[in-house]
Amino acid sequence: MRYSEILIPTLKEVPAEAEVVSHQLMLRAGFIKKLTSGIYTYLPYGLAAIRRVETIVREEMNRAGAQELMMPMVQPADLWQESGRYEKYGPELLRFKDRHDRESCLGPTHEEVITDIARRHFHSYRDLPVNLYQIQTKFRDEIRPRFGLMRGREFIMKDAYSFDVSDEAAEVSYRKMYTAYNRIFERCGLEFRCVEADSGTIGGSFSHEYMVLAETGEDTIAVCNECSWAANLEKAKVTLPEDDAKPVQQELVKIETPGKRKVPAVCEFLKIEPEQLIKTLVYLADGEAVALLLRGDREAEEIKLKNYLGVNEIRLADDKEIFDATGVPSGYLGPVDIKIRLLADQEVVSMANSAVGANEKNFHLQNVNIPRDFEVSDIADFRQLTENDPCPECGESLRLVEGIEVGHIFKLGTAYSESMKAYFQDGDGNELPLVMGCYGIGVSRVVAAAIEQNHDDSGIIFPVPLAPYQLTVLNLGLSDPEVNEAAEKIYSDLTDAGLDVFLDDRDERPGVKFKDADLLGFPLRVTVGKRFKENAKVEVRTRRDGRTDEIAVQELVSYITAFIA
Ligand code: ATP
Ligand code: MG
Repeated sequence: MRYSEILIPTLKEVPAEAEVVSHQLMLRAGFIKKLTSGIYTYLPYGLAAIRRVETIVREEMNRAGAQELMMPMVQPADLWQESGRYEKYGPELLRFKDRHDRESCLGPTHEEVITDIARRHFHSYRDLPVNLYQIQTKFRDEIRPRFGLMRGREFIMKDAYSFDVSDEAAEVSYRKMYTAYNRIFERCGLEFRCVEADSGTIGGSFSHEYMVLAETGEDTIAVCNECSWAANLEKAKVTLPEDDAKPVQQELVKIETPGKRKVPAVCEFLKIEPEQLIKTLVYLADGEAVALLLRGDREAEEIKLKNYLGVNEIRLADDKEIFDATGVPSGYLGPVDIKIRLLADQEVVSMANSAVGANEKNFHLQNVNIPRDFEVSDIADFRQLTENDPCPECGESLRLVEGIEVGHIFKLGTAYSESMKAYFQDGDGNELPLVMGCYGIGVSRVVAAAIEQNHDDSGIIFPVPLAPYQLTVLNLGLSDPEVNEAAEKIYSDLTDAGLDVFLDDRDERPGVKFKDADLLGFPLRVTVGKRFKENAKVEVRTRRDGRTDEIAVQELVSYITAFIA
């Protein structure tokens, strides 16, 4: 591809609307053009990157035995009414009427359409297993479209659906996708982790998310520095160290702590460390006040609390709500004789001689011990994991990183096949519901995540497998026939050798060409300049580490081939 012939409208300035690096760089490097909120045109260079992802996804899906099809984007509402999701899905589902007044919607996902296909075609156990997939534009009327392709309203997704005769068989299909997804993201050249996840609104028994690690993401994940363990922070299990022998229990004392309400102030006043204090937090769980005990230096993990209580909504109570529920001003609350339901983080149970609020204004208790001074029956893991906790899998150290969800695999079970009556006949003639799984990859989001993970101040650093072109040839001799001819020949020879080559043949200053090559992120840059006339060599520079070599023209193909292998 010649720069003079491709539409790449680069920008010098960072567009004000773009908050995250990938969005900024995609706009600056002419990947995308916004049409309206969350809806973009994929310009040629951006589309080429998307196609790279698609190719890898397609090859690995096919290798795993899935078949590609393409379903319509416009879907009749009655299918969604059958599954019960027409009401449930909420405003992300864009609904409209056609000219005959028929209710329709734009597909945010395709369980309904595929289940309709399955019930028409898979009648016998002999037809199964089947895995069908498509790579297609989805529409979700996201409440906050943002970050460019990261969270669009219109975006490209690979979605696959498996159909099996039993749970065990569905497990096999699920495992195949699990393996395929690992291969896909490895082949993309991305650093990623697979984490266990909540199943969200699609429902089903369990699921895994694939997260690309980056500096900015919408999720925080804990990853082990040694093994492959990783988890969403919200769900990451805390493992407690072996119990040390407990110290001798001291006598309970009540101490006046005038005006000391916050952990640091109380600790300073009592001359103790936050690890010796138990704080009492009050939450409103679906409106009901509950108290949570936590070691003084810990953060609560509200999702864990919410899941434990099985409620829809949870939030910290304000001072007035705390007083209304307990009769105690906030800051002096404690577990001894508390009036509301009490829960304790598992860690608290092994603490001894702790300080707590006395349930009386301006007073705290010291040397509180469980169960001598109070009892608690709701004990579980309610706190956030920290980088100081050990890996629950191997005991080694952890780090917290941001993650971008690029893929999600679900075991769906029979929810759709039962509601939509997709039955098959087993070997004994029994009618049974198809057992389903569904598997998504945010294809356009993968490109954003790749840039989020691979860039520097000068621009994108494409991982080789995702680069639209593996290298760019900079022709710095447009006005020098000998150099010009050499650059053209190098371009055509490399192209003939099967490489994806870009040629910067614009009549621009060298500085502009260097800058654009960095911005666009070609893994390799081959500069053909005046020195070529002296020694028939060209300069080859790797984008990622800036390594520069002088290479003789006849060795160029083998050098490049070795680099991209
Ligand atoms: P999220 O929590 O990010 O909203 P989701 O759980 O709604 O994701 P799925 O329904 O599992 O996502 O969709 C499969 C994949 O599609 C996701 O893993 C993600 O990579 C991608 N995806 C989902 N919503 C968007 C979006 N608005 N823009 C771009 N990609 C998206
Ligand atoms: Mg979503």
